[in-house]
Amino acid sequence: MNTANLTPKTSRSVTYCTRCVYPSLAVNTLLDDEGVCNACRNAEEFSRLADAAFWDERRARFESLVEETQSRTNGANWDCIIPVSGGKDSYWQAHLCKNVYGLKPLLVTYHANNFLPEGQANLDRMRDELGCDHMVFGPSVETLRRLNLAAFRRMGDMNWHCHAGIKIVPVRLALQLNVPLVVWGEITWTVAGMFAPDDFAEYNKRTVLEHDLRGFTWEDFIDDGTLEPGDLHWLGFPSDHDLERVGLRGVYIGNFFPWEPNEHAKLMHRLYNFEFARRPFERTYRTMSNLDDMHENGVHDYMKFIKFGYGRASDHASKDVRDGLMSREDAVATVRKHDHVKPRADLERWLAYVGISEDEFDRTADTFRDPRVWWIDGGRWWKRNVWGEPSPYGNVKLASASERERYS
Ligand SMILES: [Zn+2]
Repeated sequence: MNTANLTPKTSRSVTYCTRCVYPSLAVNTLLDDEGVCNACRNAEEFSRLADAAFWDERRARFESLVEETQSRTNGANWDCIIPVSGGKDSYWQAHLCKNVYGLKPLLVTYHANNFLPEGQANLDRMRDELGCDHMVFGPSVETLRRLNLAAFRRMGDMNWHCHAGIKIVPVRLALQLNVPLVVWGEITWTVAGMFAPDDFAEYNKRTVLEHDLRGFTWEDFIDDGTLEPGDLHWLGFPSDHDLERVGLRGVYIGNFFPWEPNEHAKLMHRLYNFEFARRPFERTYRTMSNLDDMHENGVHDYMKFIKFGYGRASDHASKDVRDGLMSREDAVATVRKHDHVKPRADLERWLAYVGISEDEFDRTADTFRDPRVWWIDGGRWWKRNVWGEPSPYGNVKLASASERERYS
């Protein structure tokens, strides 16, 4: 993208992309002099580049990778590992690898204990519908409860372990089983600007630690005294020595095939009975995503709103605007309906799960509010909105005057 004339972020000056509904402080987002965000510019450039010949060339690269892998595994039990949550993307990855390109995948799941019933059913059906072997690793529920709470208190993200578990456990297993290839799904950093499409970025320590794990490791969560190192060694990043010994590669299938989540979900439903959410979510309109964790679209996403002033409805609507599936006007209405919602039933379940009160939740959550977004007026939290005028969102629970001072 053209990086000239980018507007720097300044204090409490959140503005919104004039094409989608992204705020200027979304991760790695900058607006240019026309007020268009780099995610929209990248999508524009990508759609200009990505003609049929572009995808033919990329598909051919994947076919070469399949041949090379099969020559290495030579009749072993498995050619590759596919990390799966049982979601639409998991189905799409397994469908392509096994039923289109003839690889023998081992499906590996990090089971974080909070599946929705339809998400669990989707996961359980994979080895039947797709005919793949499947291993599931589920940490003890007590460890998961403690990890939820420790990460909420430390970084305001109770689901940190979900991102870490799915990015680390399948790779550790691949190394133990001498499987040379791990096939990941979506590439997200082309949108965020971490890599360009032609980089063909693969699994590596930098993307996992900086992007997926947000710079935290399991060691950051043992100082609250409820977890021991012996509880969490399975979350340790594999050593360079082990990665080299197996010659392991981790490729992202989004580098080789068009990533069309709405179309893929419909196709997976038709081919393999992939099930959508049975009930609508409170915080977004999509029913095909995040069925593997009931709190992902609930209290976990509410924390994103608390921190940064926007939520998953903004993400989903912005993606759909970029794909030409939604008008900006409809996207703004969607954000207005969903982004601020405090998910009552979901929050109550999570509070009971980890054993804290709503008052403690609110007080802790308030410490994570970004002062570039939020200010205090009359004992309430205020922020600017994508539709224009600012509005208040709930009572301030911050205890000390010095904490409140940051938001004056
Ligand atoms: Zn945009």
